[in-house]
Amino acid sequence: MKYGVNDKGYYGDFGGAYIPEMLYPNVEELREQYLKIIHDADFIAEFDQLLKDYVGRPSPLYRAKRFSEKYGANIFFKREDLNHTGSHKINNAIGQILLAIRLGKKRIIAETGAGQHGVATATVCALKGIECVVYMGEVDMERQAPNVSRMKMLGAKVVPAKSGSKTLKDATNEALRDWIGNPVDTHYIIGSVVGPYPYPDMVARFQSIISLEAKKQLLEQTGKELPEYVMACVGGGSNAMGMFYHFLNDEKVNLVAVEAAGKGVDSGHSAATTFLGREGVLHGSRTILMQTDDGQVVEPYSISAGLDYPGIGPQHAHLYKINRAQYVSITDDEALQAGLLCSQLEGIIPAIETAHALAYLEKMTFKPDDNVVICLSGRGDKDLDTYIKYFNF
Ligand SMILES: *Cc1c(COP(=O)(O)O)cnc(C)c1O
Repeated sequence: MKYGVNDKGYYGDFGGAYIPEMLYPNVEELREQYLKIIHDADFIAEFDQLLKDYVGRPSPLYRAKRFSEKYGANIFFKREDLNHTGSHKINNAIGQILLAIRLGKKRIIAETGAGQHGVATATVCALKGIECVVYMGEVDMERQAPNVSRMKMLGAKVVPAKSGSKTLKDATNEALRDWIGNPVDTHYIIGSVVGPYPYPDMVARFQSIISLEAKKQLLEQTGKELPEYVMACVGGGSNAMGMFYHFLNDEKVNLVAVEAAGKGVDSGHSAATTFLGREGVLHGSRTILMQTDDGQVVEPYSISAGLDYPGIGPQHAHLYKINRAQYVSITDDEALQAGLLCSQLEGIIPAIETAHALAYLEKMTFKPDDNVVICLSGRGDKDLDTYIKYFNF
């Protein structure tokens, strides 16, 4: 595929596997096996069946009537919020656990920030009866207590990361340390299209079901397979990559990726990676990340925990650099307002991550016949407290 990964693990200048030598055997095993396993008929059958009967796929493509009237185009929501566990993350969790089982692994580890990826992973481990350990920053465990309880109820062990800022990056370090110590029996599930090759490609493939379905659904509903615009929010970039995947080679389709500007791109409290970042290495791949002049990672900020990440996946860095996709950003305030609008015009309370993508509609101009597909990456139940505080309900 023109915009896909090459056989060395790169997307143009980005990607690769920048890992400590002690992780080499783990990553190398994955690299050698992942394509063979996920193309196996038995794997495909089990993956498809679980997506259908357990997750509830295909997720609907819903023409948002009142949004369409407001913005003067046909606005469609790809309803990943209706998936079991409430977001797109379950697609990847299922794919990676089925892969891990076929690699003979007996134990799953994961890192989580807000807890959404941890919950998806704990869910599928329960389904498959596999031991699950989730690393989470101590600060995040306090901020996201309900998700910690969920993971425990599902039978996972949640281990606090107590070093550094006690957040996602520290949890990632702890998970990597665990994996180095347990290379034979353990698989490490990364939750987005980030990390060393083959993770970005593997996760994109598992999430590509989103655009595969959307293309078919568009054809059924509009008589045309290709929309004018495809939009999604970007943290690490997995829902966006899944939403873009099968449209990448259709050059006429405009791809719009929405990052979190936090309190404003220039406020010092932002996660707008393409605006603020430079090329460098983050979590095992060459990409674009927010860093100081001497290369230290800058602590990002966004009101939405899922977008609060200092980098983007390497494929996004490539699509940005070659201008195949447009990268824009939306502030906390703009996102929360869009979340309210979506709730009251469509009866759908979106995740605050998702609300960033919706907010960008305000800044676009459309022709009346334009078809616009937005990935509704997740539901807003987890964000109710934040909405309540902001709007004083
Ligand atoms: C985790 C999450 C995101 C951000 O992650 P990506 O890998 O960029 O998709 C976006 N929306 C929701 C609902 C999430 O849970």
